[in-house]
Amino acid sequence: MAKFKIEVVKEECTGCAACNASCPEAFEMKEDDSGIPKAKPVKENVDDLGCAMDAAQVCPVNCIHITETEGNKKLI
Ligand code: SF4
Repeated sequence: MAKFKIEVVKEECTGCAACNASCPEAFEMKEDDSGIPKAKPVKENVDDLGCAMDAAQVCPVNCIHITETEGNKKLI
């Protein structure tokens, strides 16, 4: 099992792309069905967060959540 799970609450994402600018390795932008850009984790389950935590912290609406799989501990 991967150590961390990265999630974006799509409904809350404004599509500002700050996470993608901060950490393109972890977050990419994809248009939803209405053609609105939304952030998406490049990989949801990872062993190494890399810059993903920094990117989560720059999200202006705090819709990026990172959970430590063991113990299901929410980090952000
Ligand atoms: S920083 Fe937050 S609101 Fe902006 S694109 Fe990323 S997830 Fe969406």
